[in-house]
Amino acid sequence: MDLTSSTIKSLHQGLKEKQFSAAEVTEAYLKEIKKRDKDLGAYLAIDRDGALSTAQRVDEIIARGGPIGQLAGIPLAIKDNILIEGRPATAGSKILKDYTAAYDATVVEKLKQENAVLLGKTNLDEFAMGSSTENSGYKITKNPHDLSRVPGGSSGGSAVAVAANMAAGALGSDTGGSIRQPAGFCGVVGLKPTYGAVSRYGLVALASSLDQIGPLTKTVEDAAILFGAIAGHDKNDSTSVLGASYEGLFEPRLEDLRKLTIGIPEEYFVEGLDNEVAESINEVQKSLEGAGFKFKKISLPHTKYALSVYYIILPAEASTNLARYDGIRYGTRGGASNLMNLYEENRGEGFGPEVKRRIILGTFVLSAGYYDAYYSKAQRVRTLVKQDFEEAFKSVDVILAPTAPTPAFKIGEKTTNPLEMYLSDALTLPVNLAGLPGVSVPVKGREDKLPIGFQLIGKPFCEADILGVGRVYEGL
Ligand code: GLN
Repeated sequence: MDLTSSTIKSLHQGLKEKQFSAAEVTEAYLKEIKKRDKDLGAYLAIDRDGALSTAQRVDEIIARGGPIGQLAGIPLAIKDNILIEGRPATAGSKILKDYTAAYDATVVEKLKQENAVLLGKTNLDEFAMGSSTENSGYKITKNPHDLSRVPGGSSGGSAVAVAANMAAGALGSDTGGSIRQPAGFCGVVGLKPTYGAVSRYGLVALASSLDQIGPLTKTVEDAAILFGAIAGHDKNDSTSVLGASYEGLFEPRLEDLRKLTIGIPEEYFVEGLDNEVAESINEVQKSLEGAGFKFKKISLPHTKYALSVYYIILPAEASTNLARYDGIRYGTRGGASNLMNLYEENRGEGFGPEVKRRIILGTFVLSAGYYDAYYSKAQRVRTLVKQDFEEAFKSVDVILAPTAPTPAFKIGEKTTNPLEMYLSDALTLPVNLAGLPGVSVPVKGREDKLPIGFQLIGKPFCEADILGVGRVYEGL
C-alpha cells in the first residue's frame, strides 16, 4: 500500500491491523515533504521531532493492544493561523515572524487528544486575506497540477499539502471561501462548517462573524472524520453552539439521503462563469439525477450584492481585529522615538499591501460619517442574503453550485487587480454571510486536466446532508 496517497480511513485500518506502524507512516510523509515541498512551498514550518514522537506513542498504544481513535497516528497539516502551543504561528504575516503560540487552539487540543500526528504549519495569504496564497509574507505556494498556477487561497498550503500527498488531511480556515476555493483548485475536498459548529479559539481572527475552521482531505468520508473530531461546543468560544448533533455523519443512510431535493440557484450560473466549469456542474447534476436525486431550480435574488457586502463587513471586522498588532504586544518594539512612530514603523513594515488596503477600507466604513451609509447598510443587506437561503431551503434540502467561477489561474495573473481577485470568491462568500455549511468536492474524470470543484451548501448544522450527497457522488 502506498502510504502517502492513502485516505485517513485506510491508514487507520492499516494501523489497526498492524500492516504498518505509525512511525513508518509519519516517515513516509516526511520523506515526501522533503522531496516535493521545495518546488511546491506548502509548508512554512515542519515539526519532525514532534511528529515522530507522537507516532511512537501511537505505536506503543497499538503494541499494548490498546484501542486507537480514527485519527491516531494520522499525519495532518495545520494552517499557520491556527495556534499550536510552543510553535511559531505567523498567519503568513511578517509582523508575527517571531511570535510563538502560548496555547493550543481548541481544534489542536482535540487533535492532540486523538494522538493525530501534526506534521507542520502551512502557508497562507497574510492573515487569510486572499484567494491565491500570493499574499503570503513568506513565499508563493504552487499548484501541484500545474506549477505555473496558484493553488487558490487563503488555505493554499493546506490544500497543496493534501493534494501532493504531503499530509493525509489538513485544517484550514474559511471566511469567504478560503477552504473551499483552494480545495477546488487543487482537486481535494474542503468543508466550511456551519458558523458555530467548530470553536474559533486559537484561530488568528480575520472577520469574527464569518471565520470557521474546517478540514481539507482526499475524500468526503475523510472530511467527515476530521470534522467530527474538531466540532463541538467550547467554553472559550461563546459563538460555538451547544448540543448540535450530526446524525448520519459517519454512516450516511442512503435511503434517507435519496429523499433530499437539490436546488440549482440561477444566480450562480451567470456571465463570468467559465464554460468548462458550467459544463462540469451540469455533468455532476446528471450523475446525481442518475443516482436518484431530484433537482429543482431556485433563486437567491440578493446574490449580486453579496460581494460588496462582504467587502464592507470583512474589512470592518479585520481592521478592528488587527488593531492588536501595535508593535508592543506583537511586533518588534524597535527603537522608535515615540509611541506614534512605534505604531507606524511596526505596522508599516509588518503588514503587506493587501492587509493595509483592508485596514484602510475597514476603518473608513466604520468612521463616524460613513458608518450608516456603509457598515449598517451592509449588515442589513447581509440579512437579505441570509433570508434568500432560508426561503430556498423551504423547498430544497441542499444547494449545488460551482465552487469558483474558473479553474486555477496563473501566478501573477490577478495580483495587480484586487477586484478581479475578489471575484474568485463570489460563489463561496454568500455561504459565510449566511453562516451555512458548504463543502467543495472535486468533479470526477479530470485526471489530465485542471481540477474543478463543485459546492454543496446545506441548512445550518446539516453537514451530514452535504457530506452524504458528496459521498454518494464520490461512490458513483
Ligand atoms: N479570498 C477571500 C478574501 O480574501 C476569502 C478569505 C478567507 O476565506 N479567509 O477575503
